Amino acid sequence: MSIAYAEVDVNVHPAKLEVRFTDEQRVSRSVVVACSEALIRSYIPTIEIRREEPVEKTTPVFTIPEEAQQVNLRAPIMQQSTSLHESSYTSAPPRVPTYRLSTREPEEERPRSIPVFLTKSADPLTEPFHIVGCAFDTYWYVQQGENVYCIDQHAAHERLLYDALMARSAAIISQALFLPEDVRLLPTESDVFFANKTELERFGFVFSDASETSVTLLAVPQINGTALKTAFLHDVLEFLSGSEEARPNDWFRDAIAQSACKHAVKAGERLSHDEIQQLLERLTGQDSLLTCPHGRPVAIRFTKTDIEKMFKRVL
Ligand SMILES: [Zn+2]
Repeated sequence: MSIAYAEVDVNVHPAKLEVRFTDEQRVSRSVVVACSEALIRSYIPTIEIRREEPVEKTTPVFTIPEEAQQVNLRAPIMQQSTSLHESSYTSAPPRVPTYRLSTREPEEERPRSIPVFLTKSADPLTEPFHIVGCAFDTYWYVQQGENVYCIDQHAAHERLLYDALMARSAAIISQALFLPEDVRLLPTESDVFFANKTELERFGFVFSDASETSVTLLAVPQINGTALKTAFLHDVLEFLSGSEEARPNDWFRDAIAQSACKHAVKAGERLSHDEIQQLLERLTGQDSLLTCPHGRPVAIRFTKTDIEKMFKRVL
């Protein structure tokens, strides 16, 4: 994490053991967000994709940028953009000196950041993006090549969190209850329960002594680090009785989407230029980006021609 000098007052303690931040809330929020995301990500195994020795050149449909191939998912998220000041701007932002609170690797060794934004077309490797601005503390305008994207910050962050949680939920975590808990099954729930029992167990519920009218719960699934309350069993069963096709999997997907929604930045929440930049860096190269988990668009694209047509510069 880094912070501009101007945001820190060091003259509050004679021995400089304490400093004061201009916007303390933002600092604490950044720390909370960084920690929770790092914790989420720490469950994802590190993937190292080796670059193969050059073989016969076939024309790739979509090239994975070198940077993306070396992404270490365990690395603190903030670090992923440490080299952004060197690269991505067409018109450079004011160069603010920054405090480096922690670095794991020397900056020179980090691959240069080559943002690939939303598009897979043409030659994304050569297209830097540039934040034009943010409207209503919600919509970022980002220019890349001949395109301008309007991005909903909540939807974008939600998508990132959702993907991280989904990746993690591949390994379902089950948490044993301190004391076994009896849950009474309503007559309407009983059938659904027995029809889906095995699948529910795959998601981390552990039952014993199931009868027509009650079931004893020994363990419950964890979502985003929080064990579900036993009452959630009723929610799942209600969801499952809603339609023939409903599967426990769909319910968990929903629960994960809700968790992502709850933890994502809100519309109207003011983010700094750096925070936007960091989120954008993480969005680059994602292809699941087009909608949030609820199906709303993350980004809307206008081409330069679209805009010129609106102004009747071209027909
Ligand atoms: Zn949401």
